[in-house]
Amino acid sequence: MATLQGKAALITGAASGIGAATARALARDGAAVLLTDIDDARGEALAAELRGGGARALYLHQDVTEEARWTEVVAAAEKEFGRLDILVSNAGIGIIVPLEEMPLAEWRKQMAINVDGVFLSVKHCAPALRRAGGGSMVLISSVAGLRGSAGLGGYSASKGAVRLLAKSAALEFAAARIRVNSVHPGIIATPIWDKLPANALSGRNAPIDPKDMAAGVPLGYPAAPEEVAEGIAWLASDASRYVTGSELVIDGGMTAGRAGSL
Ligand code: NAD
Repeated sequence: MATLQGKAALITGAASGIGAATARALARDGAAVLLTDIDDARGEALAAELRGGGARALYLHQDVTEEARWTEVVAAAEKEFGRLDILVSNAGIGIIVPLEEMPLAEWRKQMAINVDGVFLSVKHCAPALRRAGGGSMVLISSVAGLRGSAGLGGYSASKGAVRLLAKSAALEFAAARIRVNSVHPGIIATPIWDKLPANALSGRNAPIDPKDMAAGVPLGYPAAPEEVAEGIAWLASDASRYVTGSELVIDGGMTAGRAGSL
C-alpha cells in the first residue's frame, strides 16, 4: 500500500547505490521525487525510468557542498511539487587512508561532502518542511558513525558528526513536527566500494570487494541497497511518526557484538 501519497521528497546522491534504491522505493510508495547528484547521466536516466513507471520525478545537478545551489534546489522542489515533506540526505564519499598519511585536503574534501553537505541540506530544507506543516529528514550515516575504524578514521569522524547533527536537529525542529533520524548501514554492495583506492584496510593494493568485507557480518552477506532503502522509506513515512532523534542500524548484526564472545 502506498504510504507517501501526496508527499514530495528530495534525495541527494540519488544517481547511484542507496540513493537510487531510495528514489525507487519512495516513488513506489507514491511520493513525488526530486533527485540530485553530480552524475547527471545516471541521475537523468533514473528520473526518466521513474517517470516511465508513472511517478512524478525530476533530476537536478547539485553538488551538496555548494550553498547557493541549495536555495535553488529547494525552490525548484516547491515550484515543481508545491511542497517538500521529506529530505533524504544521502550523498557521501569514503576515503580510506591511515590518519598519519591523510593529506589535509583529502580530510577536508570528505568532511565537505559528508558533513557540510548534510548540514546544508538540513539548514535549507527545514524552512520548506515547516511550510509543509512538518515532515521527515533522514540523514545517512554509517556503522562507522557508531564506532571507530582503523583506516577509515576520517570517514568515521564525518559519519559520527552526521549522527549527532540528526539528534540536534530533531530537538530543534520537534515543535515544527519535523522528525530527524540517522540511518547506519553496514556493508552494502554499491559502487562506493569501486571508488576506493588501494586497500588500506587489508594492506592489499586491490579494490575492495564488499563480499570480503562482509565475511564477519553475522547475517553473512553484504546487503543490497534496497535493503537499506526500505528502512529509509519507513522513516520517511508517517508509519514512524513517533520516531525522532533516533538511529536505525541496518547492518546484518555487524555492531551487535562479537560472535562467540562476551
Ligand atoms: P555510491 O557511490 O553508490 O553513491 C553516492 C552518490 O553520491 C553518487 O551518485 C555520487 O555521484 C554522489 N555524490 C558524491 N559526491 C557528491 C557531491 N559532492 N554532491 C552530490 N552528490 C555527490 O555510494 P552509496 O554506497 O550508495 O552511499 C550512499 C551513502 O551511504 C553515503 O553517504 C555513504 O557514506 C553511506 N554508506 C554506504 C555504505 C556502503 O557500504 N555502501 C555503508 C554505510 C554508509
